[in-house]
Amino acid sequence: MLYTIVSDMEYHDSEKAKEVAGRVEDFMDEVVIPREREALATGEEITVDEIHEMWDMAKERDLFAPQVPEEYGGQGLDFSDMLPSFEQVGRSLIGALAIRANAPQEGNMHTLEMVGTEEQKEEYLRPLVQGEISSAFAMTEPKVGAGSDPKMLQSTAVKDGDEWVVNGHKWWTSDGLGADFYLAMVRTDLDVHPYEGTSIILVPRDADGVEVQRNIPHLGDHITEREGGHAEVKFNNVRVPIENTVGEEGDGFRIAQLRLGGGRLTHCMRYSGMAERSLDIAKAYLQEREAFGTKLEEKQALRHRIADAETQLHAARTMIRHAARELDRSDARIEVAMSKMFTANVTNETIDLALQCCGGNGIGKDLPIAHFYENVRAFRIVDGADEVHRRSIARWAFDDVDETEIENTLEFDEDLRIDALDE
Ligand SMILES: Cc1cc2nc3c(=O)[nH]c(=O)nc-3n(C[C@H](O)[C@H](O)[C@H](O)COP(=O)(O)OP(=O)(O)OC[C@H]3O[C@@H](n4cnc5c(N)ncnc54)[C@H](O)[C@@H]3O)c2cc1C
Repeated sequence: MLYTIVSDMEYHDSEKAKEVAGRVEDFMDEVVIPREREALATGEEITVDEIHEMWDMAKERDLFAPQVPEEYGGQGLDFSDMLPSFEQVGRSLIGALAIRANAPQEGNMHTLEMVGTEEQKEEYLRPLVQGEISSAFAMTEPKVGAGSDPKMLQSTAVKDGDEWVVNGHKWWTSDGLGADFYLAMVRTDLDVHPYEGTSIILVPRDADGVEVQRNIPHLGDHITEREGGHAEVKFNNVRVPIENTVGEEGDGFRIAQLRLGGGRLTHCMRYSGMAERSLDIAKAYLQEREAFGTKLEEKQALRHRIADAETQLHAARTMIRHAARELDRSDARIEVAMSKMFTANVTNETIDLALQCCGGNGIGKDLPIAHFYENVRAFRIVDGADEVHRRSIARWAFDDVDETEIENTLEFDEDLRIDALDE
């Protein structure tokens, strides 16, 4: 259904993008969604071995890690070409994981690929792509610390000879429980503005002083043994070599911004796929269920709401594609903020509507909608809360920030600040 809409609506995806997305759709329908349905019905977690089997199948079908260059074991699709495939994987709770395109892993791969040294790529990126190791991005901090305002970063790394000594308290570190390494955003120069004095340091999980405290209890179930969870992590005088700096020292905000622009859009695509599947389920339910003398699908009140949801989703997809094209030319900061804020709200509203249409079955967990409902709520907070994106858009709208300035620079100043960093 989704792929048909993509074609019919003429989103101008390339032939290659459509061809790959069609094969991803088949993989979801033939392998991934049936397994997801079974797991929901039995309540049994999908095991690590099963995920590995799905990865093998994805490799046989040339679908594994579509976003990663071929030299590191992926399919080498460019950003615009991979987006329709990300829509497809969003249709299942385990879709992105099944082709190794899940957050935060894909964002961390992208970061290492962009700015990692050759040694870091060999030691960490290559096995990360293959799923031999796992990773996490640690920016957010509790209480007085980085959250919506990442300039509040409190974690530090201080040089001692040829080592960094890292200290900090991080939380909401997605996949942080099983991570083999963390990309930690830390202040490395307290004498300059955080935009110039912050670095990303690669901290191996097994380094002395790394303390994974707990999985923060949260809304939304995980149905696999593999990855998942959002950890509270402490770095207590953790010593790592200076070579573990990812990218240039002091460049942490610039790198994080590069990581986030694309990451926000891939989230948008995955969640729009989730909303689309919810609508498909709701429409099927309305076509079968009767009340007050007619099929529910004939009730005008419901038909209008479905029409609105289809319209909103189409608008979201169009905005995402526009932002993706702009991202090829610039940091597309405002376009990405608009897409992210709009899509987060549209997908939340659409999934809420789908749940309502299914009545008690929407609340029940035989269908995936209740899981989607729990899962999608965080999207209005992660990758920048709604209000933070509205703030950026309003600053652009009122201050009339010169668009060419946004396009031509990746340097940060007060007008081009990052308002939120996360996965
Ligand atoms: C499921 C999940 C996964 C996450 N994964 C990661 C991860 O992998 N790595 C990582 O580093 N972080 C991660 N985060 C953290 C996430 O980035 C933060 O939750 C987010 O940036 C908001 O920060 P905060 O929670 O500290 O909210 P706060 O900064 O405390 O803000 C609270 C609320 O205040 C409002 N607000 C904020 N600023 C403004 C404003 N200017 N005007 C009006 N209202 C405002 C917003 O509604 C916001 O939700 C994750 C969070 C969740 C829930």
